[in-house]
Amino acid sequence: DTDTDAGARNSTSLRTPIVAVLGHVDHGKTSLLDKIRGSAVIEGEAGAITQHIGATAVPLDVISSIAGDLVDPDDFDLPGLLFIDTPGHHSFTTLRSRGGALADIAILVVDVNDGFQPQTLEALDILKRSETPFIVAANKIDTVPGWNATEDSPINATYEAQTDRVSSRLDESLYEIIGNLSDEGFSADLYWRVQNFQRNVGVVPVSAMTGEGVPDLLTVMMGLSQRYMKEEMEIDVTGPGVGTVLEVKEEKGFGTTIDTVLYDGTIRADDQLVVGGMNEPIVTDVRALLQPRPLAEIRTESRFEKVDEISAASGIKIAAPELEDAMAGAPVRVVRNRDLDEVIQEVEAELADIAVDTAEEGVVVKADTLGSLEAMADALDEAEVPIVRAEVGDVAPRDVSVASTADDPKQQAILGFNVETLSDADQRAETEDVTIFTDEVIYQLIDEYEEHVDELERAQQDTILDNIVRPARFRILPDHTFRQNDPAVVGVEVNSGTVQNNTNIVKFDGSEPERVGQVKGIQEQGEDVDEARAGNRVSVAIDGPTVGRQIEEDDELWAEIPEKHAKILEQELASEIPGDELEALNMYLDKQRSRDPFWGK
Ligand code: GDP
Repeated sequence: DTDTDAGARNSTSLRTPIVAVLGHVDHGKTSLLDKIRGSAVIEGEAGAITQHIGATAVPLDVISSIAGDLVDPDDFDLPGLLFIDTPGHHSFTTLRSRGGALADIAILVVDVNDGFQPQTLEALDILKRSETPFIVAANKIDTVPGWNATEDSPINATYEAQTDRVSSRLDESLYEIIGNLSDEGFSADLYWRVQNFQRNVGVVPVSAMTGEGVPDLLTVMMGLSQRYMKEEMEIDVTGPGVGTVLEVKEEKGFGTTIDTVLYDGTIRADDQLVVGGMNEPIVTDVRALLQPRPLAEIRTESRFEKVDEISAASGIKIAAPELEDAMAGAPVRVVRNRDLDEVIQEVEAELADIAVDTAEEGVVVKADTLGSLEAMADALDEAEVPIVRAEVGDVAPRDVSVASTADDPKQQAILGFNVETLSDADQRAETEDVTIFTDEVIYQLIDEYEEHVDELERAQQDTILDNIVRPARFRILPDHTFRQNDPAVVGVEVNSGTVQNNTNIVKFDGSEPERVGQVKGIQEQGEDVDEARAGNRVSVAIDGPTVGRQIEEDDELWAEIPEKHAKILEQELASEIPGDELEALNMYLDKQRSRDPFWGK
């Protein structure tokens, strides 16, 4: 029997909690998982830990031998812990189950030297949203200068081996992390001070390098699961299996396969399945259930061995026909004795649950998995960026076509999270003026897009301002008529706003505006200029009127603002133009509106 792993054949109906590891890049997620696996191999009997597809099961007796005095196996009836092998919040968001995160519990890894970093915050945000309980592994304690390492030691003993100076330096870093957590709304403390892990986040100092603190980490995980999650772990092990696609993979000799994490029930080699697909649920029959072959047995044959059945919680590769359209993050459900239509409906409901709300207009979003698509949609919703289309997959030419039809240039954009851009899509984007953004970090992707939008808006306003008549109020100075007409040349003082060349000029007779001519040249102290600002005294040539008839000395004149321009100025550019120009605009609007209250609205 190769199926000796923690979750599979346990007689109780308590399944193994699923554990995910998150944290900023290089803070030690992979090393920590390796350390846990490594310790488990050393401590356990051969074969006691089981390598699953995409996950590693560490049974309770192995945990208890690693943890030594910290864990008494009699205190626990959960069978162990199932660690998802791919760390990072990306796989965390992919791995969802009905109603939220697939992982039951998480480890947030924070480098004690580096502290909180952008992806730490992003991970916290995801944990908060999905309401996943977690503990913080404050990693790399062995790098505190002067550290005296005791391999694989519990934290209590290892603390005692340090000088006061070294341990207080570590304490400082730990309290900084605790402070950061509190800034994010989590009340946290060193794990041995935490009474209620439901209310407080426990911080466990560890070293993925020396193994120090790893016994504590496993103990806390086990205790936390046992204490607060036992009910959720109660499943009908023999019932029809329910899981989530971790990855869709081409496998030599098997065709398209789905690496699946099973979190409920059992899946058998002769089961019928419903799997979430790109367009509709896929109904198919299992061809083979595959597990990794133990290292010693790998020769020339397949890396996998077939099994007849497997129970939750576990990772399994499923080979079946028609899986080409399966999606990472999609649900997998065994039909067995149930009504097929009912199961299809369940899968549809789960997919709809993940589906992103799209608007009539917006940007195009692509992501590699359903879960990450959903995370993108949440983040964009928060940033108030509407989405016109959201799909799993690489950026393709047809995405560019969709984006190019947007009326708003800001929406002629594609945001791709963790995906590639196909080369013909790149080419088309260039000719169709669509901008493609891709990144592996959601907040960076959104930042890039927002910067782009800011730039577009600035450029837009600059061109609008260039093409719009600027408000101006000015007065003809007494005794400053230099020429009567053709054109009239008079000295003026600009009271507020900006007088520009070629602008039409009006005069208000009561509330009735009356066009008197057009500015055909401005001179300031004998020099030609394009415009005159508030406070300037200049001479202007006005084509049209005759001084003494249409205009007179001491007259108040205005730049004639077309109604459309007035509307843009008031509604969009009020904060962009100088205060005196705004004042001129408001006075101009008052005059127009005393005649027609809706003018320029
Ligand atoms: P990940 O990106 O979060 O998976 O980080 P890795 O596990 O790849 O670790 C990044 C680097 O930090 C590697 O060079 C590791 O060897 C190193 N590292 C990880 N954990 C520790 C630790 O506890 N102590 C020390 N000294 N180095 C560590």
